[in-house]
Amino acid sequence: MGSLGSCTSDDTVGKVITCKAAVAYGPGQPLVVEEIRVDPPQKMEVRIRVLFTSICHTDLSAWKSENEAQRIYPRIFGHEASGVVESVGEGVTEFETGDHVVPIFNGECQKCVYCKSEKTNLCEKYRVNPFKSTMTVDGKCRFWSKDGEPIYHFLNTSTFSEYTVLDSACVVKIDSKAPLKKMTLLSCGVSTGLGAAWNTANVRAEATVAVFGLGGVGLAVVEGARTRGASRIIGVDINPDKRVKGANKNLAR
Ligand SMILES: [Zn+2]
Ligand SMILES: [Zn+2]
Repeated sequence: MGSLGSCTSDDTVGKVITCKAAVAYGPGQPLVVEEIRVDPPQKMEVRIRVLFTSICHTDLSAWKSENEAQRIYPRIFGHEASGVVESVGEGVTEFETGDHVVPIFNGECQKCVYCKSEKTNLCEKYRVNPFKSTMTVDGKCRFWSKDGEPIYHFLNTSTFSEYTVLDSACVVKIDSKAPLKKMTLLSCGVSTGLGAAWNTANVRAEATVAVFGLGGVGLAVVEGARTRGASRIIGVDINPDKRVKGANKNLAR
């Protein structure tokens, strides 16, 4: 999706915003772009104006409802995005209107035993949960149809909307000079790949690394291994076009 929405202004603060969103009504059914209402952020929540959003395979599998338990509709998918803070709810001190941010589906409260552990970042409160479909603080939706029916959330984020509401634990501030159009990939693809190299595999200097699959995530693994000083990185892919991308990264063939 490209750029969405109009200018953020102070007169939306504390009010319901009417904007467009791509709403899913059933497994595999085409998304319907329609007007919805977005509530103001509640305690420890942030409402952001989504400027860019991209599609990840997780959106696709949830849209197809490959897992029966995920079947809750209507719902707004999308979890890779970048945007600007429109307003913040009670108690939020970390963000203010105008901050450039990316949503994070794997939120961190920064207080629980898991957030404080060096071994994991899977927060007991805000960790990724594909079955969660409402907000943490009150178990309600912030999205409504024009008829006043609730529209459910997805992966703590729901970015296929001009405006979305997130727990502040699921938002990260980024440098305002960073190109927002590219920053959507930090939400999932790039961080998944870098995390695989830096944390899961913990690649060391001079290591030899093989990466199976050179899509967005795989190329981020390559980059993660490179920055860790891997001496040899072998890219494996069945798509011959990926040779060019591999060659650009000086991958062994
Ligand atoms: Zn994803
Ligand atoms: Zn936590």
